[in-house]
Amino acid sequence: MGNAFAFRFDNSYAHLPDRFHVRLPPTPVRAPRLIRLNVPLAEELGLDPASIDAEAAAAVFSGSRVPEGADPIAMAYAGHQFGHFVPQLGDGRAILLGEVVDREGRRRDVQLKGAGRTPFSRGGDGRAALGPVLREYLVSEAMHALGIPTTRTLAAATTGEQVYREDALPGAVLTRVAASHIRVGTFEYFAVRGDVDAVRQLADHVIERHYPDLRQAERPYLALLEAVVERQAALVARWLQVGFIHGVMNTDNTSVSGETIDYGPCAFMDAYDPATVFSSIDRGGRYAFANQPPVAQWNLARLAEALLSLIDPEPERALEPARAAIDAFPGHFERHWLAGMRRKLGLAMDEAGDRALVDGLLDAMHAGTADFTLTFRRLCDAAAAPEALAGVRSLFSAPGAFDAWAAAWRDRLERDPQSPGERADAMRRVNPAFIPRNHRVERALAAAVERDDFAPFEELLQVLSTPYEDQPGRAEYAEPPQPGERVLQTFCGT
Ligand code: AMP
Ligand code: MG
Repeated sequence: MGNAFAFRFDNSYAHLPDRFHVRLPPTPVRAPRLIRLNVPLAEELGLDPASIDAEAAAAVFSGSRVPEGADPIAMAYAGHQFGHFVPQLGDGRAILLGEVVDREGRRRDVQLKGAGRTPFSRGGDGRAALGPVLREYLVSEAMHALGIPTTRTLAAATTGEQVYREDALPGAVLTRVAASHIRVGTFEYFAVRGDVDAVRQLADHVIERHYPDLRQAERPYLALLEAVVERQAALVARWLQVGFIHGVMNTDNTSVSGETIDYGPCAFMDAYDPATVFSSIDRGGRYAFANQPPVAQWNLARLAEALLSLIDPEPERALEPARAAIDAFPGHFERHWLAGMRRKLGLAMDEAGDRALVDGLLDAMHAGTADFTLTFRRLCDAAAAPEALAGVRSLFSAPGAFDAWAAAWRDRLERDPQSPGERADAMRRVNPAFIPRNHRVERALAAAVERDDFAPFEELLQVLSTPYEDQPGRAEYAEPPQPGERVLQTFCGT
């Protein structure tokens, strides 16, 4: 069968001191079966998909065979979960196989999620169920196609074993690819133990890996904090521009590289409501759609605390610059968010009234329970042909506020330099037609889990791979749910 898994591993995290991780292989499974390999991503990582035979792929991506050059570890981390600090979490069901330098020279983690118990499993079984694995596959790849920084999915495999949640479910393993799996909670893990050396080694590793320009900074650890703040602000702004709700924005699910990570009960909203929450465990709405920016800032404040002793050996002197870095978050966020919203509305130039114009539309959408994605997509048509405004208007249950807004928007467009055709094209590149709508995702998962039918999953994945293109034969995937199809709650599924 040859050396099908010529992953050219170049591991660095595994060489950090022992207290950063536990060395152990994934637990082999009963009957490995490859559900899907992400061929373009495999190529990006330097694999030759043509040479990969199905049996070897099933063995490797289910955790039954450790590929050559891997140095499997479970990473240690802590985290604030729903505001409460847990000093030890760690990879309870994930195993980092190693790092690969991809064709573009980027270092990427290759990790198996659902790979069996580890010393960090606490009461858990170390496994994942097929439904949540396919969900992560769909949503992470959709986010990537939308142009939003995210972990990727290289493969999904089933194990031939059952996992027991509320019901017995088919077990599965997801292969996740990330810039790294270092979280705010990784810093917290060492900081709470007073292990300043480890915090420093981790910070140096992160600078080297994700922020190499900061090596020359006058105060590199403060600069690191500022840079992570900036990337999180940019990331969360992108989420809000596509209606994405992460669902579990705990500090252990906040990547310092600025990628979206940990797709659990995440969901995209249909009708616009800033208070939207899907996650069954988020009872207080801590991680509601519009709370995401302040929550990200709160999480970054936890990173700041963990870095204090590096920022200045005199804690009193570290406090002020650290606080200033965190206080800068709302300004960064607003800048990224407004720039993106301007693009969504087809505005190439800035005007002072633009913020109010954006707010006016969002308020009208909220009052009129308009579909978030369709409103913006149909505005692209209206930018080119004013008569297409009727198609936007029909999305609003009470169109009065929308009519007033549309008149203001048309006036504003008169003062903007692009031609209507250019504007509509530019808008279509930032306002997706296709998002992973909950009812579609649920249907694809149900077919796979209940009937072993992966065709709906494959088709949805295909549609989501080009979200900004009209796909005439697939128009139904752009539609919001009918009242009876609406998904009101999502579950972690852990
Ligand atoms: P998550 O909710 O997936 O972000 O996970 C939070 C913590 O719970 C992490 O430490 C996970 O490794 C751990 N965890 C989640 N599910 C399981 C499981 N089935 N078995 C063991 N640990 C788990
Ligand atoms: Mg997590």
